Amino acid sequence: MADWLATLERRAELRAKAGLTRRLRPRSADDAVIDLAGNDYLGLATHPEVTGAATAALRAYGLGATGSRLVRGSTYVHQDLEDALADWLGTERALVFSSGYLANLGALRALVQPRTLLVSDAHNHASLIDGCRISGAETVVTPHADVAAVQAALAAAPGRPAVVVTESVFSVDGDLAPLARLHEVARRHGALLLVDDAHALGVTGPAGAGAVVAAGLAGAPDVVVTATLSKSLGGVGGVVAGPAPFVRHLVETGRTFIFDTALPPAMAAGVRAAVELARTRDDLRAELVDRGALTVRRLRAAGLTVSTPAAGVVSVTAPGPEAATTWAEDCGERGVAVGCFRPPSTPDPRSRLRLTLNAGVPRSDFEQALDVVVACAPEGARDGQRVGVDA
Ligand code: PMP
Repeated sequence: MADWLATLERRAELRAKAGLTRRLRPRSADDAVIDLAGNDYLGLATHPEVTGAATAALRAYGLGATGSRLVRGSTYVHQDLEDALADWLGTERALVFSSGYLANLGALRALVQPRTLLVSDAHNHASLIDGCRISGAETVVTPHADVAAVQAALAAAPGRPAVVVTESVFSVDGDLAPLARLHEVARRHGALLLVDDAHALGVTGPAGAGAVVAAGLAGAPDVVVTATLSKSLGGVGGVVAGPAPFVRHLVETGRTFIFDTALPPAMAAGVRAAVELARTRDDLRAELVDRGALTVRRLRAAGLTVSTPAAGVVSVTAPGPEAATTWAEDCGERGVAVGCFRPPSTPDPRSRLRLTLNAGVPRSDFEQALDVVVACAPEGARDGQRVGVDA
């Protein structure tokens, strides 16, 4: 075997020994598994109005956008989606990217000027971390949800442009960032606030407009919101929303916008229909709140260590990476898909199951799935502590 491949094999063996092997698990379209692992919080990925709109645009426009947005890839469907997203999020403008990852990379790079300081939460998603890196700006990583640390980092860089970078609902533990306080501190120091609202959009806030709107920050001139279209909206793609001059700057300079093939029009049309549904379905959001509370009650009653969900993400502590893998596999064998998060995908050495709620899953299936999670819990998982913001 060539040397470089042998090196990769050795690394894979080390990961396997530590119980950290990652595996692809393909599924069929009609598997009977109860989904507590995907991010289709409102069940819109398969909603007939969503798939119907996508199918109509697929027939009209074909499979792909055939070019980047500035060349041939912009359609009226993209424009309509961007107008709808800006209206929903209460911002002057919104710009769609082909993924949330690229939206974060593009937004961060475009926000950075010479001497900019980025202040990034320790639990931030990989796309924000990579965005900070790619921007080339000096980055201070502050302890999770620690407003005083953010304040200290900003105070230590007087007169420098700065951006505070955070998720709203954190993707691994499901807790909520102190957005209003972060904004206050940022504003006091003349800094901007970038919030990745990926896990809150469609799930929290008035008309599901997300955590930034819920925190009263909609349309603030010093706030930029990013999100993915792949969670509550059931599709794929990303969005950056904020003041019009910033969005214009992104159109003209954002590398992950300019040099990337546009989102397929069919996807934009499906997501557009999902936005319309998401805005009106308070009933689905109420169901998610209820399911979150039930999950916490049931699992804690069984002695499991469970985070307090701010939206649709519930994290359950596993005794270690192998135990987490076995736990998730046992659930899978009993017909329940759960997320399994182990280092380095976790912000600390703790392995977890991640349960994501889906209002489209029938209630009885969901309750049955909780029983399976409890029944499959490994030795050592039932130490009865809580984790999360209020632990
Ligand atoms: N930000 C957060 C917080 C996420 O959880 C994700 C999705 N895993 C992304 C960004 C990336 O979005 P996308 O999957 O659309 O690239």
